[in-house]
Amino acid sequence: MNLIREAADLLLPHNCCVCGRFPDADGHVPFEVPENFHICFDCLSQLVPVPVEKRFFPCLSEPFDSDPIPGLLLYMPFPYKGFFEKAVPAMKFNAHPELASFAGCVLGSLMKKDGITADLIVPVPLSASRYKERGYNQAGLIASEAGRICGIPCIDTVLVRTRETMRQTEITDNAMRSLNVSGAFASDSSFVADGLKIIVVDDVATTGNTLHEAASALFKAGAGQVLCCALAGNRAVLNAESI
Ligand SMILES: [Zn+2]
Repeated sequence: MNLIREAADLLLPHNCCVCGRFPDADGHVPFEVPENFHICFDCLSQLVPVPVEKRFFPCLSEPFDSDPIPGLLLYMPFPYKGFFEKAVPAMKFNAHPELASFAGCVLGSLMKKDGITADLIVPVPLSASRYKERGYNQAGLIASEAGRICGIPCIDTVLVRTRETMRQTEITDNAMRSLNVSGAFASDSSFVADGLKIIVVDDVATTGNTLHEAASALFKAGAGQVLCCALAGNRAVLNAESI
C-alpha cells in the first residue's frame, strides 16, 4: 500500500487541502508537511492569529443576567476569515481530517505560547448520526493534537450529546441558537471531574452558546474551572480586560 502511495506521490501533483488548487505556473506550489498533508503557500500565508491581547472573549456574545456561569471565558486565536474561512468547511465537509489535526497542532502551539494549562482537554461531541456521516469529529482531532502539544490529556468520551440539534449555522436568531443547544450535552455517567480544570474545544464559535452548554455539563460533573476554546470566529467586541 505504501509503495502504491509513494508511486502516486511521484506521478500525481498534490492539490492544496484548503483551497483545492493544484500547482500552477504562477508559483502556486504545494507546501508539504508530514503525513501526506498538502497545503499551498498562499493558504499558509493567511494563517495569521489575532494579537495575543485579543484572543480572549466572554464565551457568550450576548451575555444574560441570570447566566449560572457568568465569567466563562473563550480563547479564540484566529478570525473566521482568510485561512479558516476555507479550512473549516474543508475539514468538516470535504473529508479532510488531516486538516483538523494540523489545525489542532497550530492551536496547541499558540496555547502553549500563551501559557494556557489545564488538567484535561475535551472536544464538543458530534451527534452519532453526524459522526457516522463524517467518520470523524473534527473538534476531537483538534483537541487531541492541541492536548498532545500542550501535554494535557485529551479524552473524547467525556461529553455526550443527549439529543440531536440543528446546525447552529442554520439558525440566525441568537435566542433560537441558545434554545437549540440548551441541555444538549451531558458528561458520561462514569466521569467525575472532581475540581479539575478542563478546556473544552470546538472548531468555531459564533454566539458561544454551544461551548457554554458544553461547559455547563462539565460544571455539573464537578469541574472546578472550565475554559472554552475555539479555533476561529468573528467577534466585534473584544474583552482583553477579562483575561
Ligand atoms: Zn491552498
